[in-house]
Amino acid sequence: SRYVYRFGGGVSDGGNGDKNLLGGKGANLAEMASIGLPVPPGFTISTDMCAHYYENGQKFGSGIVDEVTMGLNHIEVATQRGFGHTEDPLLVSVRSGARVSMPGMMDTVLNLGLNDQTVEGLAATSGDPRFAWDSYRRFIQMYSDVVLGLDHGLFEEALEIAKEDKGVHLDTELDADDLKALVQRYKDIVEQELGRPFPQDVHEQLWGAVGAVFGSWQSERAKVYRRLNHIPGDWGTAVNVQAMVFGNMGDTSATGVAFTRDPATGERAFYGEYLINAQGEDVVAGIRTPQYLTKAARERAGAKAASMEEALPEVYGELARVFDLLETHYRDMQDIEFTVERGKLWMLQTRSGKRTAKAALKIAIDMAREGLISEEEAVLRVDPAALDQLLHPTLDPKAERRVIAKGLPASPGAACGIAVFDADTAERRAGQGDKVILVRIETSPEDIHGMHAAEGILTARGGMTSHAAVVARGMGRPCVSGAGTLAIDYKAKALRVGGVEVKEGDTLTIDGASGEVMLGAVPTVQPELAGDFGTLMEWADKVRRLKVRTNAETPNDCRTAREFGAEGIGLCRTEHMFFDAERITAVRQMILAENETGRRAALAKLLPAQRSNFVEIFEIMKGFPVTIRLLDPPLHEFLPHGEDEYAEVARAANVGVEQLKQRVAELHEFNPMLGHRGCRLGITYPEIYEMQTRAIFEAAVEVAKSGEAPLPEVMVPLVATRAELAIIRQLIDATARKVFEELGRSIDYLVGTMIELPRAALRAGEIAEEAQFFSFGTNDLTQTTLGVSRDDAARFLTAYVEKGIFARDPFVSIDEDGVGELIRLAAERGRGTAPGLKLGICGEHGGDPSSIAFCEGAGLDYVSASPYRIPIARLAAAQAAL
Ligand code: PEP
Ligand code: MG
Repeated sequence: SRYVYRFGGGVSDGGNGDKNLLGGKGANLAEMASIGLPVPPGFTISTDMCAHYYENGQKFGSGIVDEVTMGLNHIEVATQRGFGHTEDPLLVSVRSGARVSMPGMMDTVLNLGLNDQTVEGLAATSGDPRFAWDSYRRFIQMYSDVVLGLDHGLFEEALEIAKEDKGVHLDTELDADDLKALVQRYKDIVEQELGRPFPQDVHEQLWGAVGAVFGSWQSERAKVYRRLNHIPGDWGTAVNVQAMVFGNMGDTSATGVAFTRDPATGERAFYGEYLINAQGEDVVAGIRTPQYLTKAARERAGAKAASMEEALPEVYGELARVFDLLETHYRDMQDIEFTVERGKLWMLQTRSGKRTAKAALKIAIDMAREGLISEEEAVLRVDPAALDQLLHPTLDPKAERRVIAKGLPASPGAACGIAVFDADTAERRAGQGDKVILVRIETSPEDIHGMHAAEGILTARGGMTSHAAVVARGMGRPCVSGAGTLAIDYKAKALRVGGVEVKEGDTLTIDGASGEVMLGAVPTVQPELAGDFGTLMEWADKVRRLKVRTNAETPNDCRTAREFGAEGIGLCRTEHMFFDAERITAVRQMILAENETGRRAALAKLLPAQRSNFVEIFEIMKGFPVTIRLLDPPLHEFLPHGEDEYAEVARAANVGVEQLKQRVAELHEFNPMLGHRGCRLGITYPEIYEMQTRAIFEAAVEVAKSGEAPLPEVMVPLVATRAELAIIRQLIDATARKVFEELGRSIDYLVGTMIELPRAALRAGEIAEEAQFFSFGTNDLTQTTLGVSRDDAARFLTAYVEKGIFARDPFVSIDEDGVGELIRLAAERGRGTAPGLKLGICGEHGGDPSSIAFCEGAGLDYVSASPYRIPIARLAAAQAAL
C-alpha cells in the first residue's frame, strides 16, 4: 500500500476526505493546495505508517524509504532547491498531525536540512548570514530536544552565556559571528552529552525526526490528553514534511495565527495575532507579545504597535481574501497559521477552529442566517456537552469586586477557588474536594491534569492563542491569561501584585469573560437563556423526536427544569423528601416501630407533608406528566449516626438509646444496594407505599379541583418479577379508588415500573402486562449487569478506561453492548405484549449525549435528566434524530 501523499506545487494526492489517513493537518494542507491557495510544497506520511512503525518494532521498512525519496523529490522540483545541497539548500519542517488536533501534545522540528555546509549555502542565497546561523542554532536546539532527547535547558544556558559575554539582553543583538560561535558551542554540547557528533547527514536528520514524531504519539502527555478527550490510542499520527518558509527574514516577513471569527465571542471579525520578523513557534509559545491583526482590534485594545493591516497592508488584503475563501469552502470558522516571507503569503495550516460554547452557538446561528449552512446543520454544529459552559454562572454585576489584576479574557465563565501554583497540587486539592484556581506563569502540556482538575486557570504570560487559552477553551474552564502584572513565585507558592500578596490556599475569583482577577469570592448570577441560545433550542426542538423530562423533586429544581424546557418529570425521588430536617424524626419513628400500628402512626404524620410536596410539583409541572417513584433506598440510610443523634431520636421515639442501637444493628445489611430496598420495602411494609400513593392522589385531586388535572405516573423501583409489580399495583389501584371515592373525583394516572435489574429486562414481556410504562434505571441496571458497585467503581474504573477495557466510564456513557442490549431486548419484549407501552430512561445516562443517541436508536419515548442538563439533552436528542 501507499504511505506518502504529496501536496503543493500544483499537486494534491489527498484532500479533505482523507483525515483518517493523513491526519487533520495533512488533509487540510492537501485541500488548501487543491483550491489554489499558496501552500509550501510537501508530503504527508500516513497514519497507517505509524501503526506499521509500531508493529515493526519502531523501524521503517524499505518501501517507505523509496516513497519518502519520491516525496522529497516533489518538494525539490517545486522549490527548485536540493535537500542537502550546498548551493541552494532545501530546508523542511517535520510536524505531527493526528486525526483530531491535539494542541501542543506532539513534536515538531523546524529548519531540518541544515548542517555545516548547507548553512553556508543558506547564508549565500538569503544574503543574510545572521539569519542562516540563527536558523542553524535553532535547528540544533530543537532537534536535540525533540529527537536526541537532550535537555533543552543546556542550550538555553549556552545562549544566555553568549549574551552575557557580549553584554546584551536580546537574542536579536547577537550577530552572525556570535551565532556561529554559539552553533559550535551547541555542537560541543551534543557531542559531550551523547558521545557522538550532531548528525550532519540530512537524510539521517529526516528519519530521526520522523521517528520522533511517531514516538511522540506514545509520550505520557499525549496519552493523558487522549484519555481526557476519549481519543483511541490506535489512531496514530501522520507526519507532515514541508518546505520551510521564513517569517524571520526581516521587516517584510512575519508569522501569525488567526481565526476567521472571534473564537471567544463568535463575532464576525478577523481575529488573530502576528509578529514581524519571527518564526512560527514564537507566536504560539507566548514568549514575545504578539501584535493585533486588524486596525480595529488594535484601536479597541488601545495598543500602539502597528497592526498587520497597517504594517503590511497588501499582504493583509490577500490574507483577508484567503479567509473568506476558506470560510466559504469549509463552511465553518477556520483557525489558520500563516507566514509571510519577504512579502509573500504562505498558508501553513487551516482547520476548523476551536471555540468557546458561546462562540460555537453564535457562529452556528449566524452562519445559518448568512445562508452558509442550514438550520439543521447549525443544530449539528454545537457540541451538546459544551452547552454546559453557557449555562454556567457569571459574576453578579452588582457584587463588589476587589480587582487586583487584569489579563486577557481567554475562556469565559466565572470561577472561584483557592489559589494553587502547580498542577500536581491542583489535582490533589481538587481530589480532596477543594475548588482550585491554577495559577501559572504560563502553562505547558505537562500541566494538563492540573488544568482539568481546576475550576479556572490564571496565567501571567501568553496571548489568546497561548497554550493555556486554547486548552482552557477546549475544556470549558474559565481562563484569564497574560495577566502581566502578576509576579508569581513558584518557590514561595505565592503571587504579588500591587502590594497584595496571595498565598497558596487564599481565595481568588477570575472572570474569563472580562479578564479580571479578584481577591476573595465574588457572587455569581445565572446565565441568560434567550437570544441565540433560545433560537438554537427552538431549531433543535423542531427536529427532535425524543421528549425530554427532568429528574427533580424540589420546587426549585422543578422550576429550573421548566425554564430549561423540561417536558415533565421522569423521576421524582420521594426519599429526598424523607430527608427533610423536620420530617426525619417521623421517618425514624416509622422505621423503628415494632409493628404495623406503630408504623402507621408515624406515616400518618408524614402524609400531609408528602401531599403538599406533590401539590407544589403538580402545579409547577402543569400540563406535563410527573413520574413519582415510591420509596427506594434501604431504611437504615435514614437512621441516626452519632451519639447526639441517637439521643435525640431516642427521646422523640420514646425508646431507650440501647434499644435504638439494637434496632439499628438489626437493620444492618452487608450489601444494602442488593438488600432490603426498592419494591422489597413495599412488599414487606405495604403501609409505606400506601401512604405515598395516598399523598399522590390526594394532591392530584386537590390540584385538579382548582384547575388543570395533573398527570401522575406512579413508578415502582427495583422490580425483578411480575408478581412483585402485580402485588404493588393492586395496592396502588385500591388506594386510588379509595381516595377518589373519598374526595368525589377521579384522576387519570399510570402505573409503571423501573427496569433496573437484568431479570426485569429479560422478563419484560410478562412484566409489561402489569405496567403502563417502563423507565430504565440505568444507574442500577449498569451496576447489576456489570456486577460493578456504583459507589465503589471509582477505585478501579480509571484503570479500566486507561487499558481500553471500557471506552468510557459505563456509569457516564451507556455500555451499549451489554446494558444497551438489555434495554433493546426489554423494549422489544415489553412492546411485544403491550404495544402502547411508554418507554423512558431516568438513569444519569439520560443527560449524556452519546447515551441519548443510543436511546433514539432503541426507540424510547423520552429521556430524563437533571435540570442543568435539559438543554444538553434537547440538543443531543435533535442531533440523534438528524
Ligand atoms: C437508576 O438506578 O438508574 C435510578 C434512576 O435510580 P437511583 O439512581 O435512584 O437508584
Ligand atoms: Mg435505581
